[in-house]
Amino acid sequence: MKIDMHAHFLPPIAQQEAARLDRDQAPWLAIDASGETGQIMKGSQPFRPVYRALWDPALRLEEMDRHGLDIQIISATPIMFGYEFPGDKAAEWAARMNDLALEHCAADTKRLKALAQVPLQNLDLACAEASRARAAGHVGVQIGNHLGPRDMDDEHLVAFLIHCANNDIPILAHPWDMMTDGRMKKWMLPWLVAMPAETQLGILSLILSGAFERIPESLKLCFAHGGGSFAFLLGRVDNAWQCRDIVRQDCPHPPSSYTNRFYTDSAVFDAGALRLLVEVMGADHVMLGSDYPFPLGEQSIGKLVMENDWLDDTQKQRICAGNAQQFFGLGTA
Ligand SMILES: [Zn+2]
Repeated sequence: MKIDMHAHFLPPIAQQEAARLDRDQAPWLAIDASGETGQIMKGSQPFRPVYRALWDPALRLEEMDRHGLDIQIISATPIMFGYEFPGDKAAEWAARMNDLALEHCAADTKRLKALAQVPLQNLDLACAEASRARAAGHVGVQIGNHLGPRDMDDEHLVAFLIHCANNDIPILAHPWDMMTDGRMKKWMLPWLVAMPAETQLGILSLILSGAFERIPESLKLCFAHGGGSFAFLLGRVDNAWQCRDIVRQDCPHPPSSYTNRFYTDSAVFDAGALRLLVEVMGADHVMLGSDYPFPLGEQSIGKLVMENDWLDDTQKQRICAGNAQQFFGLGTA
C-alpha cells in the first residue's frame, strides 16, 4: 500500500473567473492548444510551466498506476492561497477552490483525497471553511507556513491550529512566499535556500515560543519537504537552547523533545537525508510525500523510501502508508 500525502492540483480556472478574487494578482491556468501543457499565470505574468496532470484527474490516476500509488492526497498549489486579499473575497475563493478539489477527486473517490485551503487572514472565516470542508469530504487542510510577517507562533495562527486540534482536522503546513531580499533571483534559489528555511522557521517558531505547550496534543500537523532544514540543524538549535537563556526563555524543554508533536513528509531526495530524518523524527512521524506533479518533486514516487537499505520493512510500510492512514483517518481497507 502506498499513499502520497503531498501532491498539488490547480483547477482549470480562466482569467475571467480568477478576476473575481483579483483582476491583476489572482492565479489562473493558461492551457496550451495541445491541452497537454500550460502555464500557471498570476494576472498577466507567467508563474510556472505545468502539464495536464495538475488539472486532469484522468492523467493523475494513470500516473498513480505507473508509480504504484494507491491513494494520493491533493492540495492547492500555494500560489492559490489568496492570503493577501480581503478576507471575504478570499473565503469565497477558498470555498470555490475546495469544491473544485472535490470535483477533481470525484474521478475516483477511493484513490483521490483532498486537503482544503482556508482564508487564513480571517480567523473566523478560516475556522468556518476548515470545518465546512471537513464535513464536505476533505481529509484535512493545507496552510502556508506564515501570514505576511506573522509566523506560526502568532496567536492568530495558534488559534487556528487549536481549532483544528479540537475538531480533528489534520494540517499540512507548506512553505510559501519565500523570504528573499532580492539576492535570490536566479537558479530557483528561493526554492532551494529560502523554502527549507521557511519550513524551519515554522517549526522553530512553534517550539521556541512555547506554543506546543498551549496547543492540544491532539493536533495533527505535518510539515512539507522533510521539515526543510529542521532535522539537519536540530543539534545546533539544542545547543543554542542549552547555552543561551534568550533561546530557552519561552521554551521549557529542549527543542529536540518536541519532535513527537508533528510529522514531516519524506520529500528529501537523498538516502542519507532520509535516514537522518527518520532518526530525528522516528519512523512513525514521517509520511510519503512527493510534491507531484512538479519538477522539484520525487520523480519516481516512493522509490527513495522503498529502496532505502537502512529502513526495515515495517518502517517502510509505516512511512509509505500506515502513518498517513492514521494521520488522515483513512482506514485500512
Ligand atoms: Zn508542495
